[in-house]
Amino acid sequence: MIGTLPRDPFRFEPLPTRVLFGHGTRTHLAKEVRAAGITRVLVLTTPFQKDLGDAVARDLGDVVAGVFNGAAMHTPTDVTAQALDALTTAGADGVVAVGGGSTIGLGKALAARTDVVQVVLPTTYAGSEMTPILGETENGLKTTRSGPEIRPEVVIYDVALTHTLPAAMSVTSGINAIAHAVEALYAVNGNPLMDALALEGIRALTGALPLIVADPHRGAGREAALYGAWLCGTCLGSVGMALHHKLCHTLGGSFGLPHAETHTVVLPHALAYNAPAVPKVIDALRPILGDDPALGLHHLARDLGAPTSLSGLGLDAASLDRATELALQARYPNPRPLEAGALRATLGRAWAGTAPISEISSEGSSA
Ligand code: NAD
Repeated sequence: MIGTLPRDPFRFEPLPTRVLFGHGTRTHLAKEVRAAGITRVLVLTTPFQKDLGDAVARDLGDVVAGVFNGAAMHTPTDVTAQALDALTTAGADGVVAVGGGSTIGLGKALAARTDVVQVVLPTTYAGSEMTPILGETENGLKTTRSGPEIRPEVVIYDVALTHTLPAAMSVTSGINAIAHAVEALYAVNGNPLMDALALEGIRALTGALPLIVADPHRGAGREAALYGAWLCGTCLGSVGMALHHKLCHTLGGSFGLPHAETHTVVLPHALAYNAPAVPKVIDALRPILGDDPALGLHHLARDLGAPTSLSGLGLDAASLDRATELALQARYPNPRPLEAGALRATLGRAWAGTAPISEISSEGSSA
């Protein structure tokens, strides 16, 4: 056995993304934009982060062709159409996305249509910057696609940009990142390097989040949290995800639940569902999350004041049967076979906010 977990023969392809990490790395932005071959740049951000977008535009100087500050959650295609107009009118050959997954998603949507060069300054822990995946919403339907042109070319992690992320959002965004690493540990196409990154990412984030909640503004924990987010995002961009991500995609796309909060509520329950099929993964997580890692994640969220129930996020109990059906419909690899009754019970616990319970599979794959 190589590494922590047993693995079948594996393939490893390093991500081509250029990464800068540290405090104050934003000062390298103009140089990185030029080095990426960009001659005219459109800066992207959300309405909430408009001032930051303007400040970044000032940092960039003459190369800036405009600022588009309309990015929105779940990448609505009508917003992308407006941004595409702005990109074309400006004659830009590059974008600088400064923000969380929503802003980064808009940059990816533009790249999917024009192959424009992307430089990203992430300000949350969601991890989208490291992936070739784009989720888009049209007429209330969320679809995903993937391709090499979608992955950002340059990512500048500047710890200073995360200091403003409110404590509550830091926790849910951090647990969103942990979810990528947990599912990487049992990915069918995983490898020992991703396992090591996943465990290190989870360790960094679980240590950092309590420090951030204790004092969000002083910066303790911010560096470790962003480092963990980079590692977990690398896992998301490198190997396939399973039940947890499918459930969250369904709950976000079909029932309009908020992204990071939904990940936070569902993760302990999805891990509990899969636990009987992945005893070695559970062993590997124990030193970080305690004897019952699913319960450890539930307690982490609860103790840091994060949401722990889908009912609290506004999901109607009547939607649980439909959510189960949708999760069963799609075919995707998962370590434990999907069983309607057990899955419905798992979602029921996530809805009520009760502690996760590891299910024993009727297929007999128990720990
Ligand atoms: P977000 O980008 O929607 O940000 C939420 C809000 O917080 C926004 O108003 C934003 O402006 C604000 N914000 C962001 N950083 C801040 C900071 N440092 N200080 C103060 N405010 C800040 O939230 P998110 O959770 O990062 O992204 C969610 C979106 O990203 C979803 O649409 C999700 O589907 C997508 N996503 C995609 C991938 C992928 O690989 N395709 C991965 C993860 C998330």
